[in-house]
Amino acid sequence: MEDCIFCKIVKGESPSYKIYEDEYTYAFLDIAKKQYGHTLVIPKEHFVNSIDCTEELLQKVILAVQKIARHYVNDLKFSGVLIMNANGKEAGQVVDHLHYHIIPHGDSENRSSDEDLSLQQQRLKLN
Ligand SMILES: [Zn+2]
Repeated sequence: MEDCIFCKIVKGESPSYKIYEDEYTYAFLDIAKKQYGHTLVIPKEHFVNSIDCTEELLQKVILAVQKIARHYVNDLKFSGVLIMNANGKEAGQVVDHLHYHIIPHGDSENRSSDEDLSLQQQRLKLN
């Protein structure tokens, strides 16, 4: 979609701190949020939310969410992750391009949410 900020990020027309990418999905740090490592996972193709997305693509998205969550917990030793997905403005959806939030918790090294985003990217990125 032309005016969609997440479509622009996928196309490289807007900058992002990439965490993970595959054929169908893209993940990057949420620059609007204050939690350390707050990550967004989106399909490369534009869908508004989990309700209008095709079943096939939604599976790819949730598997990418799991892959990143496993990386944060199993490899990077966060104690847990909060996974969220809002559908519709009334439910708290701000950007109308399907996205899952992954918020890691319990960092043993107590990293600050003020840490530079490029440093967060270096530490958290999967590929
Ligand atoms: Zn979009």
